[in-house]
Amino acid sequence: MQTVFGKIVGSVLRGFRKILDFVFPQNCISCDGEIRDVEHFLCAGCKADIGFIRQPHCFRCGVPADLSYAYPHEEFVCGVCRQSPYQFDQARSLGFYDTVLRTTIHHFKYRRQMGVLPEMDRLLEKYFEENPGFCQGFTVSPVPLHFSKMKERGFDQAFLIARQVARALKLPLEGGLLRRIKATSPQATMTRTERARNIKGAFEVNRPELVVGKNILLVDDVFTTGATVNEAANILKKNGAGKVYVFTLGRVVVGKGSGL
Ligand SMILES: [Zn+2]
Ligand SMILES: [Zn+2]
Repeated sequence: MQTVFGKIVGSVLRGFRKILDFVFPQNCISCDGEIRDVEHFLCAGCKADIGFIRQPHCFRCGVPADLSYAYPHEEFVCGVCRQSPYQFDQARSLGFYDTVLRTTIHHFKYRRQMGVLPEMDRLLEKYFEENPGFCQGFTVSPVPLHFSKMKERGFDQAFLIARQVARALKLPLEGGLLRRIKATSPQATMTRTERARNIKGAFEVNRPELVVGKNILLVDDVFTTGATVNEAANILKKNGAGKVYVFTLGRVVVGKGSGL
């Protein structure tokens, strides 16, 4: 027969387990499969599904090369970069912004589940191990949010990612090189041209003396058409920055899964 004490202990333990499940979910955030290790948010299968973007890709913007091109050489440059070169020198992304990476980013961007950050740390470490020497001597800086967005969301996802990138690459982090002076409309449904127009004039350099002559690695969560990072790079270069590289966690690749 269960004692009153036993019942109380049981219910306390169940309550504790519920809290633990909330803080560290026991199921994979992507496929809902069970995870044994409480520190992890993604199961091994889903983690393996996050496709890193590897060669062949465009030397400038990092877009995976369409294999129908003649086999790309080391400094292969894609059609977009040849027609209208971006302002940044190079852009790279960790992986395709498809289901698993998108779910992971959404969990912390929209659901404020900061517990996924260690998951991203592990991914970043693995990615930079595969790309040794990436941006050595650079200063890491996030693409800033407008303060109204910051207020609405309560935190700055690009800053958090930039901090992790700086840590993984052992590079200095400079949070306030740029500020966003224009609240831009959501870009999700816009075309490339509309995005570029929407973001024009959105940034300003905070302290030009911190930018002059510096090589800067701009960090954001997702690279879609590159309009945002391109405008940020443009302002940095106008203010005397040296090289400007871009790194994002996710990369939207049109036709990925069909054409590639
Ligand atoms: Zn899973
Ligand atoms: Zn390109």
